[in-house]
Amino acid sequence: MSTQAHTPNHPHDPNCIFCKIVAGQIPSRKVHEDEDILAFHDIQPWAPVHFLVIPKRHIPSMAQIGPDDAALMGRIMTLIPRLAEEQGCNPYPDGGFRTVCNTGTEGGQEVHHLHVHVMGGPRPWSRG
Ligand code: 5GP
Ligand code: ZN
Repeated sequence: MSTQAHTPNHPHDPNCIFCKIVAGQIPSRKVHEDEDILAFHDIQPWAPVHFLVIPKRHIPSMAQIGPDDAALMGRIMTLIPRLAEEQGCNPYPDGGFRTVCNTGTEGGQEVHHLHVHVMGGPRPWSRG
């Protein structure tokens, strides 16, 4: 896997589907975008609300994050409750949402660009 500079702040992998979404080369239904983070609806939702939150920078998985990523990961996690509410998840405690970050093959990860799934809405869900 090669990584090259896309912009100074967002090195990207030319073969990575989520880097292509960040670059606008593959369309997505965006939920949120800022300088470092993108959130977009999952193409195959498991739940009435199902979106993914990703760093724009190509980080393959949570196995690669280190101390320098603490602020970024903190921002991703603190963004999630606000986006979940905006997307129609019902309020805690009767509503709520599920966050999942699959890491590696045994962790169930299929797309190797770090992403947090956020799922919510009334049950039953198709999976999960
Ligand atoms: P993983 O199994 O790696 O945790 O989850 C990858 C997720 O990415 C899956 O839920 C899958 O539906 C979603 N996905 C894969 N390709 C695309 C795409 O091109 N666009 C969007 N919006 N989601 C995608
Ligand atoms: Zn990527």
